[in-house]
Amino acid sequence: MKISTNQLINDRLTLEETLYHTANGYLGARANFEEGYPAGMDTVRGCYINAFYDTIDLTYPEKLFGFPDTAQRLVNLPDMQTTRLYLDGGAFSLFDGEILDYLRELDMEAGAALRRVKWRSPKGHTAVVSFRRMASFTRPELFLTEITVETDKPCKLEVVSELNCNVTNAANAWDPRVASKPEQYIQMRDAETIGEIATARCGTMKSGLTVTAAMLHAVNVDCEKNIERTEAGFKTRITLRITDKPVVIHKLCAYSDSRRYDDCKQRAVAVLEAAASEGAEKLFAEQRGYLKAFWRDSGIAIHGDDETAEGLAYNLYCLLQSAGRDTISNITAKGLSGEGYEGHYFWDTEIYMFPFFLLTRPEHAKSLLGYRYSILDAAREHAKILGHKKGALYSWRTITGSECSPYYPSGSAQYHINGDVAHSFMQYYYATKDLDFMEEKGAEVLIETARLWLDAGAYDRKGRLCYNGVTGPDEYTCMVNNNYFTNLSARHNLTSAVYICGELERAGKFDAVKERLNITREELPAFQKAAGDIYIPYDEEWGINPQDDSFLDKQQVELGGIPKENFPILMHYHPLWMYRTQICKQADVVLAHYLYGGADEDTMKKSYEYYEKITTHDSSLSKCIFSIMASRLGWEEKAYSYFNGTVRTDLDNIQGNTRDGVHTANMGGAYLCVVAGVAGLRIGKDGFRFRPTLPKAWDGYGFNFYYSGSLISLNVEPGRAVFTLKSGNPVTVHVNGAPYLIDGEVAVI
Ligand code: BGC
Repeated sequence: MKISTNQLINDRLTLEETLYHTANGYLGARANFEEGYPAGMDTVRGCYINAFYDTIDLTYPEKLFGFPDTAQRLVNLPDMQTTRLYLDGGAFSLFDGEILDYLRELDMEAGAALRRVKWRSPKGHTAVVSFRRMASFTRPELFLTEITVETDKPCKLEVVSELNCNVTNAANAWDPRVASKPEQYIQMRDAETIGEIATARCGTMKSGLTVTAAMLHAVNVDCEKNIERTEAGFKTRITLRITDKPVVIHKLCAYSDSRRYDDCKQRAVAVLEAAASEGAEKLFAEQRGYLKAFWRDSGIAIHGDDETAEGLAYNLYCLLQSAGRDTISNITAKGLSGEGYEGHYFWDTEIYMFPFFLLTRPEHAKSLLGYRYSILDAAREHAKILGHKKGALYSWRTITGSECSPYYPSGSAQYHINGDVAHSFMQYYYATKDLDFMEEKGAEVLIETARLWLDAGAYDRKGRLCYNGVTGPDEYTCMVNNNYFTNLSARHNLTSAVYICGELERAGKFDAVKERLNITREELPAFQKAAGDIYIPYDEEWGINPQDDSFLDKQQVELGGIPKENFPILMHYHPLWMYRTQICKQADVVLAHYLYGGADEDTMKKSYEYYEKITTHDSSLSKCIFSIMASRLGWEEKAYSYFNGTVRTDLDNIQGNTRDGVHTANMGGAYLCVVAGVAGLRIGKDGFRFRPTLPKAWDGYGFNFYYSGSLISLNVEPGRAVFTLKSGNPVTVHVNGAPYLIDGEVAVI
């Protein structure tokens, strides 16, 4: 399983920096050329630790009450990618001399990215130079680069390997999805060498965090090694003579940060020493072993459609690379591949990415929920800022829990995030039956988010509970009353809180929870009543669910009439124009139908057809939902075509901005197109329900999933769908409405 390219195309390099990035959920490095680029060339040189941030000031020309004063921003770490090579004094550069052969590949079974070049230097040396790198999945702080150099004739090789703390974050003044100003967020505080290890400790400007970067080199031939202190860190200079065998240099780097370790220097040094004593071969083997287990449980096989299979594999691999697993961190909108959306976490995790982890690595899913639990106090604080008397309201975008969106209409107004978080806790419970976790953490999140809905709603004159002045998932329609999606998620959140308390009660675990959370006697009945009173918009005349109270009365536009170059709309039209127009950035009502069902078939079909005509899919979170719902409604070709438009979003740079980072939610969405779309999986109180289909373009497909601690596979081929219990106890799943006990190999069609 590899993605690769044989051509060096300068205009694609920033895109490839993202595509070939190497990350492990904690640490991520963009695929920058070690030897650097000519001055002025476009590049975003970056390396990041998940949730390692600085605090930035938010300024407003007109600041109103409660607007956040500060936000968090993912910090570009000290650069340790830079390693320059000199052959008999001449610098190795792909922009000089002649490229005779070129390969760049990401090997997703090895967990390593390779760049190999056969190059003729201006001085006439022919050299084969390769860089193989990985961010270790088993040793999160470790980043390893293997540099191999072979020349056609003996020559002197000088290697200058840097640890440079003088770095800034990237910026793009024209794109609201990227920070607008380049800034320096870290400063070197001290630097020292410990034996052959060079270490530098840096502090952030405002957030009070520190990170230690450390590097160590191992060389397979005799050499001279000098560690030189520079103004911004260190340079290790390695000098040797290449004769008849390849020179192999291992650059071992470690980062450790104060959010995880009190003594990060000690940690970074310990990581390097342990890695050095293992040796690179073992480290690469360890990585391969980790990935073998990953692909065994988490891969999706698509037979007869290689492009799709490649796209899916890449997406799943990037999800693995992106997901924090320490409850301090989560999954940023761009993973650890770039600085788009400033390293923030959104609802993207819960609705789009969480299911992949839930079904294939439940422990990992649990730690994602643990992160939400860890920021519950910040959500309580956020609720207060917004004027609520009780409950918790999660911030729309954040790292540590406080609101980082300076634009509340498409930020804090997205109250549905509470329902999204609640939804993921419930999905976890239904899929794992882990009541202990619900007792310890889940119930508190569900109760606190439910309390918020009680406080945020208002009864109208018809006695309906309404949510006014909110924004649903469609960010082209802001600050509306009774967004259908929001109201459904509020209802689900409220009933889920009641349901979980009932589950705890049945298990004799409720009393302690009740006391801890101060749940009053009236509270749960009040949740239940509110859930029943919530207004769920339906338009009798058109037989559809209106997106909100005013949506269907707004001005209509023909998407076809908008010039192609004016997409994405957000880059070309004033928000007010979008808000007054029936135009959608992404799935909203259609997403509600997928997540919460509830509407009858005819309403879902008519709604789908209505919103399809006005949805731009300017957000990469959209097409996957249209694909899943098309599968649900029996429109196989449509489902396949939307899936096709989503599964290779980054590999084919469909949104045009992959240079800023991969679209992680979209990647989770592509997974869901198969599992929830084509195979029709829904998870609820009554367990797992499937409606497997097979797209005409495929010969078959298969995937594994965990349910209640058991590992099961589903394989579908023409005329046949087979579930197999691979480990654990037999479980019952529903297929097309009928129950099947999976206790071996069970053909259901
Ligand atoms: C989408 C949001 C999403 C965010 C981060 C925006 O373009 O409209 O729904 O959360 O991107 O991925």
